[in-house]
Amino acid sequence: MAKQDLVIIGGGPAGLTAALYAGRSRLDTLLIEKMSVGGRILMSEIIENYPGFPGGVSTAELMRRIQEQVKELGVKIINEEASDVDCVNRIVNTLGASYEVGAIIIASGARPRKLNVPGEEQYTGRGVSYCATCDAPFFKNKRVVIVGGGNAVAEEAMYLSRFASLVSVIHRRADLRASPILQERMQKNNKINFILNSIVTQIKGASKVESVMVKDLLSGKENDFVCDGVFIYIGYEPETVFLKNKLQMDESGFIVTDENMATTVGGVFACGDCRKKGFYQVINACGDGAVAADSAYKFIASQEK
Ligand code: NAP
Repeated sequence: MAKQDLVIIGGGPAGLTAALYAGRSRLDTLLIEKMSVGGRILMSEIIENYPGFPGGVSTAELMRRIQEQVKELGVKIINEEASDVDCVNRIVNTLGASYEVGAIIIASGARPRKLNVPGEEQYTGRGVSYCATCDAPFFKNKRVVIVGGGNAVAEEAMYLSRFASLVSVIHRRADLRASPILQERMQKNNKINFILNSIVTQIKGASKVESVMVKDLLSGKENDFVCDGVFIYIGYEPETVFLKNKLQMDESGFIVTDENMATTVGGVFACGDCRKKGFYQVINACGDGAVAADSAYKFIASQEK
C-alpha cells in the first residue's frame, strides 16, 4: 500500500487551495479528481465576485492558474475516483491503488439538483442541460427556459441571452432569491422574461425537447410552453454518498465540520461545497481549503510527536 502524508479528494476551488497550502507546508500530497480539475465553477463562464478581478475573470482561467500554482509545489494530481474511503484507518482506495495516509481532506463538492419530472432524464443532452456555459451555443436564436430563482439562474440567464432569442425564467415563487445587483441586470435585459409562481411538471418532445408543461401555482392551470432548451439551476446536492455512515452529515448529506474543518473522525477534514455551512461561494471554498490544509498539517505533526 502506498504511503502519503495527505490525500485531497476533489479538485475544485476548495481542494486546489488545500493542495496549495499543503504543498507550501511541504506535505507529500496527492489530489484525486474524478472529473475535470476546476470543479463545478467551470459550469459558469465568468466569476465576477472573486476579489482582484474588476469586470470578472474567466472561471477556466482562474482555475487553470490555481492548478499551475499547485503543480509548481510538486503536488501530484491524478484523474481517478476515490471509490472507497476508510475514514477511521485513513485509507483511501481508488480503482487502481490504495493509499495509507496521515490525513484526508474531503473537497468533493456538489452536483446539480434534478427537477425529477417526466422527460428530464430522457432529454438530458437533447435539450435538457445543467450547464449553460457548456451548451448555450447550441441554442443560437432559439427559445430556452431556465428553472430556479437563485444567483446561478440570474448569471446563466444573462449568459444564455447572448445566444438564445428568448430566455424564460420559471420560478416557483413570486420573488427570486438572486442578489439584487443580478436581478437588476436581468430586469434590464429585453431577451429575459419571467414566469413566476410556476413550476415545470413535464418536459416534452420527440427526438429532442419541444416544450415544457408549466403549472401556475396560483391558478392551478397548466400550459404547454414551446421551447427548444431547458436549463435547470435549482441548487446542488453534496457529492458525499461514498462517505455515508462514515462521517457525521446533515439530513441532506452535507458533512458536519467544526471551524477548523475537522469532521467527526480524527484526521479527516472537509471543505468547500460538500460541507454544511451557510454561504456557498468560490471565495469561501478557497478559505475553507486553506484552513483544512493547516488543520491537516497540525494533525499530522501531532501524530509524529
Ligand atoms: P440556490 O441559491 O440554492 O437557489 C436554488 C433555486 O432553485 C431557489 O430559487 C429555489 O427556490 C429553486 N428550487 C430548488 N428546488 C427546486 C425545485 N425542486 N423546483 C423548482 N425550483 C427549485 O442555488 P444556486 O442559484 O444554484 O446557487 C447555489 C449556491 O451558489 C448559492 O449559495 C449561491 O449563492 C451560490 N452562487 C453564487 C453566485 C454569485 O455570487 N455570483 C453565482 C452562482 C451561485 P426557492 O427560492 O423557492 O427556494
